[in-house]
Amino acid sequence: AVPLFLHFVLFRSSSSRTLPSFLIVGPSGAGKTSLLTLFERGSPATTHTSQTPLTVEAALPVTTTAASNRYRSSHDPSSKEHKIFLLVDTPGHGKLRHHAFENITSPQHLKGIVFLVDAANLSTGAGGPTDAGLREAAEYLHDILLMLQKRAMGTKKVPEMPLLIAANKQDLFTALPAPLVKAALEAEITKVRESRSKGLLDSGIGMGDSDMAEEKEWLGEGGEGKFEFAQMEDVGVSVTIAGGSVLGGEGPEVGKWWDWIAESL
Ligand code: GDP
Repeated sequence: AVPLFLHFVLFRSSSSRTLPSFLIVGPSGAGKTSLLTLFERGSPATTHTSQTPLTVEAALPVTTTAASNRYRSSHDPSSKEHKIFLLVDTPGHGKLRHHAFENITSPQHLKGIVFLVDAANLSTGAGGPTDAGLREAAEYLHDILLMLQKRAMGTKKVPEMPLLIAANKQDLFTALPAPLVKAALEAEITKVRESRSKGLLDSGIGMGDSDMAEEKEWLGEGGEGKFEFAQMEDVGVSVTIAGGSVLGGEGPEVGKWWDWIAESL
């Protein structure tokens, strides 16, 4: 991970206040710190568990054209400049997640959210040893999406927020490919929102001011049906799923994620 002092230097530099930023979130072990290091230095490094959010400056590789530069002539010198942006790493540990949520509720030029998951730690089989990984990822993602939904339903008009589900560790043969990661997370989030709303009813919250607690805590469209990421479009959140690997035998495979960042800049 980036040493702590560096975090403070970057965080306090005036440029970091105005640069577009992307938030990287996800369960611990997903590969966030590795991804951050790769984006920053161009090569992944071995990491240790992060306990504080990190902010680093990264630049788009020259081969990727940011959406805002696409129509510039190749003779325009500004089209050759790297687009700089910030990545905010957040600890995946449950108790430290308020850092991630703070970044969403008070975003500074936040252009998008990357939710990184370990695609080899998501099992769709019932009762398997890795089901806990799927549950943890689904709960975390559910909470982030719910927060984005609440933010969009507020009185203040908020910008659209693209979210990338980056299905990491595709180099491992046990990794689920992106379409299966999508299906597994949608199915598990369906269960999470059911148990959350049941928990609310059981706790008595929402008995008095019923529409407040009950309606606002329900992610996506009403009804008992299946949760789908497409339901988030209604609240200005477009969800994309793309596979990749930060590490792995053949070296990093993160082209689809770069493309998504370039689209969102
Ligand atoms: P974080 O807790 O989300 O910050 O995850 P780390 O970046 O610390 O990575 C957790 C572990 O996964 C480390 O042992 C990494 O070396 C490993 N890892 C990260 N990305 C990949 C990948 O693409 N493929 C494989 N095989 N391992 C990875």
